[in-house]
Amino acid sequence: MNVFIYIMLFIMGTFFGSFFTLAVYRIPLGKDITHERSFCPTCNHKLGAWDLIPVWSYLFLKGKCRYCGEKVRIRYFILEILSGIVFVIAYVSYNIQNVLLEPNKLAIFIAFVMMYVTLILVAGIDKEYRKINASVLGFGVICQSIYMLYLCMIEKENDSIYRYTMYFASFILVFIVFKVRQKNKSNYPLQVGLLFTYILCVIDWKASLMIVLFSFLDLIIWKCVSKKQKLPWGFVMSLCTIVYVIVENGIKFWMI
Ligand SMILES: [Zn+2]
Repeated sequence: MNVFIYIMLFIMGTFFGSFFTLAVYRIPLGKDITHERSFCPTCNHKLGAWDLIPVWSYLFLKGKCRYCGEKVRIRYFILEILSGIVFVIAYVSYNIQNVLLEPNKLAIFIAFVMMYVTLILVAGIDKEYRKINASVLGFGVICQSIYMLYLCMIEKENDSIYRYTMYFASFILVFIVFKVRQKNKSNYPLQVGLLFTYILCVIDWKASLMIVLFSFLDLIIWKCVSKKQKLPWGFVMSLCTIVYVIVENGIKFWMI
């Protein structure tokens, strides 16, 4: 039974991974991410159902477009596999025995998936376009608010309601300033600030400060190792947060 669930989760993760590729490309261009069919960016040929199956289509077509033979970037394939693995690891680390009998744990898992979606999109868009997308962060905060409301309803974590209310308030404040100053081109630090307030909403403030520190160290190490390309802050901070949440839960799981 467990193996079956793991396989299903892995497949679900790969579909999310495939969606990220499309969303990172389309969101900054203001294109529809749900209705419009995918197409090859080189030959513009619309992709068929067989071309859209994650992992499999890459392997089957040997990493090339079926219609024009142009190479498909391997990072798409890696992102699909990684997302599959992340879904399985998250499920195991939240120690969910039976999804149907444990709605609380299911809610935690869904909240994790929503955080993962938000941060991967932020990371991907920042890497490609050097900007942190406020709408994606807004979506993330709405998901997190619903999750917090659920926790309040089942009378858990009541002590942290005030703390989270404060974080959400600071997010909204930075969001408003962000929207007002959007016409100003040099607002990248403000975008990083908005991302930081989002991270505050999903993990506690000590961990959030640690993420900033780790991101800073990562950027320094990257600068020494590679002279090719500078990594943007939002990209590094988002990935650090995902790794932190997975590792933190993994440690909790193994300690029990
Ligand atoms: Zn093509």
